[in-house]
Amino acid sequence: MNLLVSDAPKPLVVITGASSGIGLAIAETLSARGHALLLIARHTKELDLPNAAYADVDVGDYEALKKAVVDAEAQFGPVDCLINNAGIADVRPFEKVEPEDYEREIRTNLLGALNGTKAVYDGMLERKQGTIINISSISDRKTCPVAVGYTASKYGMRSVSESLREAAAAAGVRVINLSPAYIRTNIHAGMGVTFEEYCELLGHPDFMTAEEFADVVRYCYEMPPHLCVRDMVITPTKSSF
Ligand code: NDP
Repeated sequence: MNLLVSDAPKPLVVITGASSGIGLAIAETLSARGHALLLIARHTKELDLPNAAYADVDVGDYEALKKAVVDAEAQFGPVDCLINNAGIADVRPFEKVEPEDYEREIRTNLLGALNGTKAVYDGMLERKQGTIINISSISDRKTCPVAVGYTASKYGMRSVSESLREAAAAAGVRVINLSPAYIRTNIHAGMGVTFEEYCELLGHPDFMTAEEFADVVRYCYEMPPHLCVRDMVITPTKSSF
């Protein structure tokens, strides 16, 4: 009788924007399911999680991102899932933002997701296996007068998700676009406003928790590999927009 029980981690999941908010909640959720993790942010925080690697990388920098993936794969094996989550939002009126503000949004939210995908895509196609989850936003299909650059980045992300899903489907690689409404995180800090000011700008919406949304991500990832949740909107029930 073989009594050996493997304590090898489940396959590697790469999460960008993993130092805070949604990314951090996803890291904790998938770590609890036994996955090895590569956690990426510009300023990573070491977490009390097993089998986790960290890389201080700006997702706008493809070469640095690729190197982080190669290093983590040497430690934990091939990437099974990439979660493109790193993102920033600026919900000030357009007359208040500068060109560098919307450039940063597009570079982080849209080009960052393309860079992340590029870093894992060939390997997934070769292995005929893998999942890419794009953390988009309900702003990928609803315009907003105070989030012009942000909606542009997320409309772009949704189109990337669907184009890539069409491209990768026959190889058995899933591309999933998840579009949440408001989630209580620290995203307002990047705009230099308090949470109360952020709520005022948005018209006092309802929020879900990052943990609630992380469980949606887990559910989509854990669907049998031959099934793909292509595109999902999830909001607090009382969101009327
Ligand atoms: P947070 O501000 O709490 O977290 C953002 C994360 O992204 C941090 O870990 C941050 O770390 C990282 N990040 C930001 N810029 C970069 C960069 N250039 N390179 C690498 N990492 C970066 O925000 P949320 O958790 O709320 O947002 C996560 C995602 O969820 C975003 O894509 C956002 O658009 C999306 N979303 C959020 C909603 C919400 O209401 N909160 C609703 C819908 C979608 P660091 O600063 O160290 O780099």
